[in-house]
Amino acid sequence: MKEKSAKSPEPEEPEQNFEDIPGVGPSIAQKLRDAGIRDFMELAVASPDDLATLADIGTAAAQKIINEARKQVNVGGFETGVEILERRKKLGRITSMSKAIDELLGGGIETQAITEFYGIFGSGKTQLALQAAISVQLPPEKGGLDGDCVYIDTENTFRAERAAEIAQGAGLDPAKALARIHVARAFNSSHQELLVPKAFELAHDLPVRLLVVDSLTAHFRAEFIGRGALADRQQRLNRHMHELLRFGDVFNAAVICTNQVTARPDVLFGDPTGPIGGNIVGHTATFRVYLRKSKPPHRIARLVDSPNLPEGEAVFSVTSEGIRD
Ligand code: ATP
Ligand code: MG
Repeated sequence: MKEKSAKSPEPEEPEQNFEDIPGVGPSIAQKLRDAGIRDFMELAVASPDDLATLADIGTAAAQKIINEARKQVNVGGFETGVEILERRKKLGRITSMSKAIDELLGGGIETQAITEFYGIFGSGKTQLALQAAISVQLPPEKGGLDGDCVYIDTENTFRAERAAEIAQGAGLDPAKALARIHVARAFNSSHQELLVPKAFELAHDLPVRLLVVDSLTAHFRAEFIGRGALADRQQRLNRHMHELLRFGDVFNAAVICTNQVTARPDVLFGDPTGPIGGNIVGHTATFRVYLRKSKPPHRIARLVDSPNLPEGEAVFSVTSEGIRD
């Protein structure tokens, strides 16, 4: 961050004065800035442990700073239903280019939320993520948010040619559209986690309204093997997902995660497959959508879990132009 301001002499937006927070002197303020934190909101929603590590201070001091920041931005207090409704009015939605899926999701892929697409290989998870990376760029009247996309690719399946094709299908200039998708390849789970603060940095300079993690669970699944590692894996996934959710809240952005299904030997009756990450992922994702193949090019999307929408199904297809009904 320091490097960046050294490189760009033009005046940036004034940073918030962390020194105004009781207990924060110039040296801690500098540490916060060095850690890439730019405003009270980010402080207010940080976890004490994370902040302590990032800024190299004690956990108790971190908690105090967080509490003060919360007072400043009025986070953590009670809100009336009126205020909540007001905040929900700011929710944005991104079209999937399938009317059926948009309807299933209550009007499109929602901001301030995590939408998880899970299903077997070839069920359309990556295609939906690529479609959203393009759709988010559309103007609001066409179902977009006129925003950029940050795309964390863990399986090396992001294809620029395919994204360009989908852009064309959406009536966008392919070169311009590709320039608004910021892709990072995550080489392992720790790298994947580290890319989230990078996304925060990027979103301070660019209007990022969509964060994709494709796939959320592949690295975690490959690295944490056996029953002994399960608790650790779940804890790390939980933390990672809360960081993603925080990104969605801070930037009023949509978050899309993809997830494979795996055989569940513990299930004796019913569907013996389920999404990786089990309850942790399930409880943190706001919308869970199960994708399955049907007669080509058709696919079926099933809304499995949502705080405010009924369960239901939508038939869609993957075409050369992208996702369609
Ligand atoms: P995995 O778990 O392996 O990552 P996935 O669910 O991400 O699988 P997708 O990549 O979304 O799978 O879907 C791949 C499918 O999308 C292909 O099998 C094909 O049916 C369809 N598809 C991909 N590209 C095109 C295209 N250009 N035109 C039409 N259909 C396409
Ligand atoms: Mg995929």
